[in-house]
Amino acid sequence: MRLVLIGAPGSGKGTQAQLLADASGARHIATGDLLRAEVDRGTELGQQVAPLLDSGALVPDQTLLDLVLPLVRAEQPPHYILDGFPRSCPQAVRFDELAGSAAPERAVLLEVPRDELVQRMLRRASEQHRSDDSEEVIRHRLQVFDTQTSPLIDHYRADGRLSVLPAGGPVLQVAAELARLLAGLSMLGRTV
Ligand code: AMP
Repeated sequence: MRLVLIGAPGSGKGTQAQLLADASGARHIATGDLLRAEVDRGTELGQQVAPLLDSGALVPDQTLLDLVLPLVRAEQPPHYILDGFPRSCPQAVRFDELAGSAAPERAVLLEVPRDELVQRMLRRASEQHRSDDSEEVIRHRLQVFDTQTSPLIDHYRADGRLSVLPAGGPVLQVAAELARLLAGLSMLGRTV
């Protein structure tokens, strides 16, 4: 499986990616988690990206490509679920070019109504105390999704790689529907 999960902040991408990774053995590559780990370790990269993460702005494309490409190439055949990358059209286009045969075969958009997204993020803010879950930053992250990330949807739609999954329901129901969708595409195992 070479899968990209697309969804606004709060759409459940991370949760669904982890459940699917556990069920399929695919590698879960969560760029937000990787970047937060760099910040926590105080690495040079972490120090560079910390202010961007705190404000909800995007980290430069090349930084993400350098982070993700070695991970998707680490296994042959590649078997991965990308969560949080690509997050802009330039990232997606460049990633397709550079990854070659390891490029994503499918992108699934998790579609959740806007009101539900905000509710979920505010809930997460009170549970996890993430530095980018304040109400102001939440609004900014949704705006970044609308302006920079949603054009990505057309990138994958244009060449027939997009599936849209309504994802406003309970976690396990969405997980079952995602698994059914991928099984229908013969994508649950390793695909060459
Ligand atoms: P996430 O945990 O996926 O919501 O990501 C948290 C933050 O990490 C984002 O608000 C961005 O600042 C940064 N980030 C994660 N993935 C990317 C990406 N593909 N491109 C640019 N910035 C990213």
